[in-house]
Amino acid sequence: KVRVFWFRRDMRFEDNVGLYHALSGDFPVLPVFIFDRHILDELPKDDARVTFIHDELQKMRSHLQDQFGSSIATYHDTPENAFKELIEDFDIEAVYANRDYEPYAYKRDANINALLAQNGIEFHDFKDQVIFEKTEVEKNDGGMYLVFTPYMKQWKKEFENIDFKTFPSEDLLENTYKNSRLPNLSLSDMGFEKSSIKVPEHNFDKELLKNYEDTRNIPSIEGTSRLSPYLRFGTIGYRKVVEKALSVKNEAFLDELIWREFYKAILHNYPETQERAFKPKYDRIEWRNNEEEFEKWKTGQTGYPIVDAGMRQLNETGWMHNRLRMVVGSFLCKHLLIDWRWGEAYFAEKLLDYEMSSNVGGWQWVAGSGVDAAPYFRVFNPYSQTDRFDKDKKYIKKWVPEFDSDKYPEPMVEHKPARERCLETYKEAVKN
Ligand code: FAD
Repeated sequence: KVRVFWFRRDMRFEDNVGLYHALSGDFPVLPVFIFDRHILDELPKDDARVTFIHDELQKMRSHLQDQFGSSIATYHDTPENAFKELIEDFDIEAVYANRDYEPYAYKRDANINALLAQNGIEFHDFKDQVIFEKTEVEKNDGGMYLVFTPYMKQWKKEFENIDFKTFPSEDLLENTYKNSRLPNLSLSDMGFEKSSIKVPEHNFDKELLKNYEDTRNIPSIEGTSRLSPYLRFGTIGYRKVVEKALSVKNEAFLDELIWREFYKAILHNYPETQERAFKPKYDRIEWRNNEEEFEKWKTGQTGYPIVDAGMRQLNETGWMHNRLRMVVGSFLCKHLLIDWRWGEAYFAEKLLDYEMSSNVGGWQWVAGSGVDAAPYFRVFNPYSQTDRFDKDKKYIKKWVPEFDSDKYPEPMVEHKPARERCLETYKEAVKN
């Protein structure tokens, strides 16, 4: 008999809760990874995230092979088919995994759970990605906080009451199932090719954390951690990150991690907001949705250097600084009156750190339709954002070197009339 551990967005051996519990039993553990065709079939063939996952998986397989004579079985199929195959090939005692909170993942896990149950196999899942999930940070009278600051305060209070510890799964790998010849897959076996975009190194250290509050809003410097893709795929353990965040006095960084949990809890509790405005009136906005304008935004040709710099950074590197995500998002929804869902979908295609909860949360925030969003009449002015956060235009010069030459386009809309058009449209939508 074997026990299966299913890796999903927790691609590491260290401090992995589900893996720790799987390895703590009496059965050899067969690690499994499924390149899910429900997801992969929709992606471009040189998708950078698929390359990243594949590379990480190869490193993990080699480690198991070299140190323990074991490996990771990889499949390129739907999870249902992969599990049917597993059930046929192995005598499975139980399946272990860490919980995943996106709407698709929920349905997927329910289906797999049902399939396993039909075969008399138990499915055990664990909390690994967050400190608090779903309803663990609640208002006194029950119910989810819909405003960040009280949520964050309550999160910190609850944190004081928990037994915060890590799970040394890395010390138990001897208990993995000994067979180094488990099926493996190359990128080309799956019809994919290596992407030219690589996940950049992160720079998460104490120095950064100490200065974070001052550096985090300046896009021309490496003032943020760049941890997001690593947290997204779980190649870095979240509890270690929290531990480090707690080791400095200034809590600005910890607060950002709490934003991440806040948005996860919101999506978990309100999965319909993946597509619908959190505040229903905002679904009455008459978006202009002009395709040509959308194209200019996507390619960084709006004539607003700060907006174009952000979009070009995204297109070229798969990452964009948070300040710019807000600026370009606001520009799309408010200056161009293009539906936030279009922007959300474009980010989903491009971001290495694409995380549905944070992306939908971030986009609904800029559109004004989400939880804790700024009031709709606050429209980011791209020029004053430049003055505040890129005064010497270092960031702009890097991504839009031609910005002050005659090769650069005129602004596609004028700020003032665009702002007025936005206010009128929003006002109409949210009245009564
Ligand atoms: P740091 O500043 O070093 O922060 C550390 C970590 O805290 C991040 O890695 C992230 O996990 C978390 N974090 C920081 N800011 C936020 C935030 N505002 N909301 C939620 N979590 C946060 N983040 C994603 O991880 N995936 C997305 O798809 C995503 N889409 C976004 C879309 C829009 C429109 C906006 C405004 C923000 C979005 N964010 C998203 C949040 C934020 O921009 C990124 O997490 C951040 O830029 C990642 O860089 P970093 O790791 O250097 O961040």
